[in-house]
Parts: sequence; C-alpha cells; structure tokens
Amino acid sequence: MVCDDIKIKPLQRQKVCVIGAGMAGLASARELRREGHDVTVLEQSGDVGGQWVYDPRTDGADPLGAAAPVKVHGSMYASLRLISARENMGFTDFQFAPKDGRDGRRFPGHREVYLYLKDFCAAFGLMESVRLNTSVVRVAPAPGPARQWTVRSVDLGKSEEVVEEVFDAVVVANGHYSQPRLPSIQGMEAWRGRQMHSHSYRVPEPFRGEVVVVVGCGESGKDITMEVRRVAKEVHLAAKSMEEVTQGLAKACLPSTPPACTYNCTYVLFRAPVMSISTCMHTCMQNEMIDPSGNVNQVERLCEDGRVVFGDGSSILADTIIYCTGFSYSFPFLDTEGAVTVDDNRVGPLFEHVFPPSLAPSLSFIGIPIKVFAPWFFEAQAKWVAQVLSGKRTLPPEEEMMRSVEEYYGAREIAGVPKKYTHDVSLFDTTYIDEFGGKYCDFPGVEKWRYELLVSSFVTMLDNLETFLDEYKDSDSIRKSVEEWRLSAQQAQAATRAATKKQSLGLLEQAQ
Ligand SMILES: Cc1cc2nc3c(=O)[nH]c(=O)nc-3n(C[C@H](O)[C@H](O)[C@H](O)COP(=O)(O)OP(=O)(O)OC[C@H]3O[C@@H](n4cnc5c(N)ncnc54)[C@H](O)[C@@H]3O)c2cc1C
Repeated sequence: MVCDDIKIKPLQRQKVCVIGAGMAGLASARELRREGHDVTVLEQSGDVGGQWVYDPRTDGADPLGAAAPVKVHGSMYASLRLISARENMGFTDFQFAPKDGRDGRRFPGHREVYLYLKDFCAAFGLMESVRLNTSVVRVAPAPGPARQWTVRSVDLGKSEEVVEEVFDAVVVANGHYSQPRLPSIQGMEAWRGRQMHSHSYRVPEPFRGEVVVVVGCGESGKDITMEVRRVAKEVHLAAKSMEEVTQGLAKACLPSTPPACTYNCTYVLFRAPVMSISTCMHTCMQNEMIDPSGNVNQVERLCEDGRVVFGDGSSILADTIIYCTGFSYSFPFLDTEGAVTVDDNRVGPLFEHVFPPSLAPSLSFIGIPIKVFAPWFFEAQAKWVAQVLSGKRTLPPEEEMMRSVEEYYGAREIAGVPKKYTHDVSLFDTTYIDEFGGKYCDFPGVEKWRYELLVSSFVTMLDNLETFLDEYKDSDSIRKSVEEWRLSAQQAQAATRAATKKQSLGLLEQAQ
C-alpha cells in the first residue's frame, strides 16, 4: 500500500456512499478517504474496474438493449485496445506506466487497464471500502430534517439480502457506457434480420459469411467494421456525414490494387456518406467510389423482407444490423423527486457536471463528462467533492449555481451544440479541464507534452486507422518527455513496492 499517511484531519467527516467501483468510483473512493471521510463503495459486480472487466456475457435475450436497465454492464469487445495513449491515462500520482511481464504497448488491450486499476486499488488500500456483489436499487432522500440519503442495496451473493443504510452523502459513479442509445428508424420492429447494439458485440465469428450493416461511425463503429469485415461477406458502414469517413478509414478499406471481380478482395464504396466495405466484388461499383456531392444518405427504413433502404433509394439485403450509436445516461436507482433528470442525454441540472444545485453537496456525480483525460479528470472532480464535503471548500449559493448551469446551456445552444452533447467536453481544447482544476481543487493543468501526444496520436489515427496503434512516430520533444515520464513512473512504482513491503513487514511484526 502506498504511504498515504498525509491524512488530513477532516473538518467534517462524512459518511459517504459511492455507487460503482469503476475508474470514476475508485478515483472518488481514494480522494474521499484521503480527505478522511468514512467511505463505502457499493459495486454490483464481483470485481472492481467497471467497463475494463471484460465480460464475455451479453444481453443475449435483448441484444438491442432496448429494455432499461441492461442486465450486463460490460460493453467491451474482446479485441479492444485503448485509443488513448497510456501516457495520458493515469492518475496524477499513480501513472499508467508499463510493467514487466505485462502488455507494455502504448495502446494496450483492455485487460491492461483492468490490471492497472487493480494495482491502484491495492496501492491505496481501497478494497477496505468496497463491497462487491452489491447492487444499489434505490437512492432517495432520508426522512428527517438533515439532508441525508437512504441507500437500498441487494446482496447479489448468497444471501440476496436487501439492506437499507443512511449516508450523509452519495457519489454516483455508475458509468454511462452500458445503456444503448438507439436511433429511431422506420421498420425497426418488423425487420426480420438480427439487430443488435455494439453493447452486445464481443467477437466477429457470429457474423461469418453474413451481410452486415454497421450504423454509426464513431470509434466502436469503425473498430467493429474493421474486425467484422475479416469474416463477413459484406460490411456496409453507414456514417452520419462525410467528415466521419476519415482518410485513415478509407485507406484501411481500400484495396492496394484496383478491385477485380473476384471474391475475398476488399474495396470501399462511398455513396456519401454510406460506405460499404465488402469482400464480395461487383466491378460496377468501382464507378461509384466517391460521390462528391457529400449528401447525407443514412439508413432510411428497414423492410420486413430484410432489405435496408438508404436515403438515396438504394437498398441491400442484409442479415445483421449492428447499431454503434452510443450510450445513454441512466440512473434507474435514483429518486430525487425530479431534482435531477436525464433529458436527451443531458443530466441536469448539474453545476460543473457534478453537483445538482438543489441537492449539493450531499449528492454528486463523478465521470459524467466525456472526451476528457480519464481518470485524470475524474480525480480532479473527486478531489473537489471530497473537499467540499469536508468543508475545506465551499460551493456558491444554489441560485448562483443554477444561473451558471443555465448560462452554460445557453452558450452551448448559441454555439449550435445539440442537447445530447451537453457533457461532451472537448479533449482538443484543454481550457475547460485546466480551468476546472485550477478553480476548484488546485489541480495541475494538462502538461504540454501530453496534449501534443494526444494530438499527434489523433492525427496518426486519422491518417491510418489500421496501423496507428503500433506505428507512430513521436517528435523529439514528445520522445524526450515520454522517456522522462517512464523513468519517473518506474521510480515511483519502486517506491510504492518498497512502502508496501515495509508496511507488510510492520503488520507481520505486530501480529507476532
Ligand atoms: C468499448 C469501449 C471502449 C472505450 N475505450 C476507451 C479508451 O480507449 N480510453 C478511455 O479513456 N476511455 C474509453 N472508454 C470509456 C471508459 O469506459 C471510461 O473511460 C471509464 O471506464 C468510465 O469509468 P466509470 O467508472 O465512469 O464507469 P464504468 O467503468 O462503467 O464503472 C461503473 C461501475 O458502476 C457499477 N454499477 C453500475 N450500476 C450500479 C448499481 N446500481 N449498483 C452498484 N454498482 C453499479 C458497474 O458495475 C461498474 O463497475 C471506452 C468505453 C467502451 C465501452
């Protein structure tokens, strides 16, 4: 365990419940414990790590995940590798450095993140606070004059016992990559083929020999397309706009030699923005390689006979549709009598994406923003919550917080950002996250080299989707910073190991 003995005597020691032991919940637990609070983390699964605990099970009976809440939390597929560089993915004082005998790649597989989170837990003794196999089923204001919360949970282990406990504060960290967000397409209910959401995708084998339509061209859509095309007869990727069809994606799908009318030759067909990647050739399609009009041509309707009809009237007969259309925020256990709602993926009102003004600071949310450096940003949010709860920091009055939320909504609206992107905090402008850290918890800004690394990884990805995870060329300045980072992270790891050993020896001596 890391010598985490700078335990500040709390101004107010609160009894805090954290819901979920993923990255955000673990970040919260560490900061709350550091601040001296009495912390209980309730985690429904049998392990910590959240999404990074790969779960081969799927919501098989409901592959679209149409019925909320989904039964299986995990949405990771077997082959998933990080798309964010490990150098940008650590806690400030516990870096995600490569370890001997482990997956040391810059963009490692999902298991490496899981192991890293396990190491983090062990280093800071967090398991003392975690109750596994415990599903939170209701969180509601506790009766009485004090602002407290009754948390009802079910022991999913042997007992199935229902427990009700009262806490001074609740930190919600249940993640938002589980509940599918589905488009509404005419004919979806009657379409006779298989329809599923990426939430239930694990491996490509079930799609062997099939004609597959992938809807959505985000990271999962691209990744799944690239993987499924290796076994499928045809894969058609429907994108929202031509901008989503990056050069890297096109390059990955175009043949190295002009397509001939033979099987097992991959080509890409753009009928903007519908891109079809196929292993079955029709030479006539070569003429349609790029439609310069850039018209949006999404899936328009689904027919009972299995046809998928696109906006331009063309259609294909498909076996499977995989919706890679993102996820919805969902808090099925939360009863705030309307004080916090989810409206078109806007969780609100939340001051700085964390505190609902009328219930602050006893209710807070960690990990709501997307496109942030994780877990770095979760750590900053959690530090703020922990310090507000202890009384070290104060929040503005409720009306002021509410005004700030409304101003934020207004500014986004003027900028033309749809409501569903309320929590989309751009990674490529670190102003928000830097300001947040400086303003609320004396957190360091994102170092320049990390930001440069992020941008250069992104540029390489745009250029070549297939190779960017393994073939990257760092500039001299990034290379130097990465070397220094690696060295200091390894020294810190050695210090952690020494501290752990010392502590275990001390415990052993005490026991004797
Ligand atoms: C396919 C995929 C790829 C991704 N790739 C990347 C990437 O490359 N880089 C990156 O930074 N991020 C990536 N992410 C996002 C990543 O999931 C988040 O960065 C991070 O793991 C979110 O952590 P979290 O703690 O908020 O949520 P989660 O990891 O989902 O953890 C939430 C936890 O809460 C628990 N829980 C939920 N409900 C309850 C309940 N009622 N009672 C008790 N416990 C409950 C869950 O079991 C879970 O353990 C990816 C996500 C997916 C799905």
